[in-house]
Amino acid sequence: MEINQLLKKGVDLIKDRPYTNPVLEATLLLSQLLNVDRIYIYTHGREKVEGAIVEKFLELMEMRKEGYPLQYIIKKKEFMGLEFYVEEGVLIPRSDTEILVEYLLDYIDKKYKDTAIKLLDLGIGSGAIALSVAYYRKNVTVYGVDIYDTPLKVANINKERFKLDNVHLFKGDLFDGIEGIEGIEEEFHIIASNPPYIPKEDIDKLQEEVKDYEPREALDGGEDGLEFYRRIIPQSKKYLTHEGLLIFEIGYDQGQELRDMLLEEGFKNIEILKDLQGLDRVVLGVYEKELKE
Ligand code: GLN
Repeated sequence: MEINQLLKKGVDLIKDRPYTNPVLEATLLLSQLLNVDRIYIYTHGREKVEGAIVEKFLELMEMRKEGYPLQYIIKKKEFMGLEFYVEEGVLIPRSDTEILVEYLLDYIDKKYKDTAIKLLDLGIGSGAIALSVAYYRKNVTVYGVDIYDTPLKVANINKERFKLDNVHLFKGDLFDGIEGIEGIEEEFHIIASNPPYIPKEDIDKLQEEVKDYEPREALDGGEDGLEFYRRIIPQSKKYLTHEGLLIFEIGYDQGQELRDMLLEEGFKNIEILKDLQGLDRVVLGVYEKELKE
């Protein structure tokens, strides 16, 4: 079968799925199977595809038709210009999270240009936040913690892929992951997290790709979605340097509550950042420690 015909078959399979870009998705998959780039697919429409690849392509597009996320099929997702390896068991990086990373890159340049600093990321998943900061800012040593094995495995694969030697990954439950580890002085200039923040009962209202295939443990923020913030905010004060920054990704309707929680715990300079749709997506605040004598 020719590339054009096959592509059309693939597009037809998923054209009625909500939230998809059928042409792009079919092209991405076919280009991966043929080991060529996307442009090649569009410019070599009359080329013949061998039977085994035709079958494989249609089989995978059938999975996609059932809602299985494309990124788990092609095992990659672009984030901050880097190609992250992903597989089932880690949340697929979202472009909204780039808002948080871009803020951090700017903040690091303004406040800590050419100064060696430490960042802690709680709940690394594939490593989107931790590894892109480490990749773009070599003055930052990044510590990442996750409680599950798959994210640690995937983040380590990505750490190798991007050849990062300023990243250290640990297994554990939030701050327990770095507690008592030799060589880590337990104060960080920045603590970042994109914790699970969907209220438990809202998870089943999400699109199939997310609710049926992405890890629930990376989404479920308890009854009101705020469980992890409630744990992290008070504990973070012990682990931040003087004027250290705490920064979170949050749900679109959690900005006010997060602002209140941070104020209550004594954080200053609180800001809420909007995502590409104009919704609250990131909250941050600075903690001033009492200066030691
Ligand atoms: N933003 C994710 C979503 O699209 C949720 C991520 C999270 O809970 N941290 O559902």
